[in-house]
Amino acid sequence: PNSKTGDGKPRLMLMGQRRSGKSSISSVVFHKLPPSETLYLETTTKIKKEAMHSFMDFQVWDFPGHLDYTGPEFDPENLFDEIGALIWVIDAQDEYLEAIHRLNRMIIYLQSSYPAINIEVFVHKVDGLSDDYRGDTFRDIIQRVQDELSDNNYENPPVSFYQTSIYDHSIFEAFSKVIQKLIPQLPTLEALLNSLCSNSRIEKAYLFDVLSKIYIATDTSPTDIGSYAICSDYIDVVIDVSEIYGWDRFMQIGSTTAGEVGLEETGNQDADSVITMDRKAHNYLYLKEINKYANPSTILNVLTVCSLRYLALICLMGEDSPAGRKPLIDHNVSVFQDALKQVFPR
Ligand code: GDP
Repeated sequence: PNSKTGDGKPRLMLMGQRRSGKSSISSVVFHKLPPSETLYLETTTKIKKEAMHSFMDFQVWDFPGHLDYTGPEFDPENLFDEIGALIWVIDAQDEYLEAIHRLNRMIIYLQSSYPAINIEVFVHKVDGLSDDYRGDTFRDIIQRVQDELSDNNYENPPVSFYQTSIYDHSIFEAFSKVIQKLIPQLPTLEALLNSLCSNSRIEKAYLFDVLSKIYIATDTSPTDIGSYAICSDYIDVVIDVSEIYGWDRFMQIGSTTAGEVGLEETGNQDADSVITMDRKAHNYLYLKEINKYANPSTILNVLTVCSLRYLALICLMGEDSPAGRKPLIDHNVSVFQDALKQVFPR
């Protein structure tokens, strides 16, 4: 509900001090840059508007850290009008008092002029901190932000905090949560995924934007970091395979017996696949492209925004082999797909 819908595209803005990691984050999440190569990125020195080719086509406005965005030289009408969420990046490995002070000025400004904007704080580069120190730093930052705000009579401002790093999955999970808040249909999506899980004996189901590896919804059972990581790695495998063979002649990767992977062409349909994740066949993954071959108007509107390439449904299943149940799962998934089209009609 918080997304501003000027042209129907929720917009994110990335801000923070110089060298806090803004360019690295947008390169890793949206341009698939390997994290180690961010060492050679030039630090952000100007405002960059970047169109992201992802399911939402949102923009990251990458701001240099040393400018004062609330000063008179910036036109806030243009700057904040269509923003759904402001992501503020704080370098947890660096001295952060100044960053917190700037953040608080921004929060106070936004609260008075643009209260609908979600404020999301990424406590970033936590990979460099020991486990104990990481938690302490995180709590310290939250405490300082809250103290300073309450000194200014802002109690319980709508600010969320995340620990992030480009060297693991945390940056993708944080983005997923930020994006989900901007999707008004999220409760419906969650309910659909819940019923899919219970009807098909699925442990965990994710609706992924394949290119960015952001998940736009999951069922409401507890999420553990491991399951996101497994699904995300699987997407990489699928992308590699499909790049070799081409999306249109996508392969079905099937495995019904332990450790064995078979390839089978599925022709011109939404690709799906089931694999075992380990040689003992204790866990299974099911992947289904959701709308690749849907008619164009549906594709354009699945998230009421354009530039959607495709979404994929990925399900985790335990112990018993889903081989015998696959027809049932396929059926339930097609029901789910139909429901999705109702949720996002033209
Ligand atoms: P910007 O000025 O805010 O755009 O910052 P950059 O994206 O240029 O990043 C500054 C430096 O931080 C680069 O050397 C990155 O490699 C490094 N960096 C970015 N993200 C992370 C992270 O999650 N962990 C670590 N250890 N370093 C990071």
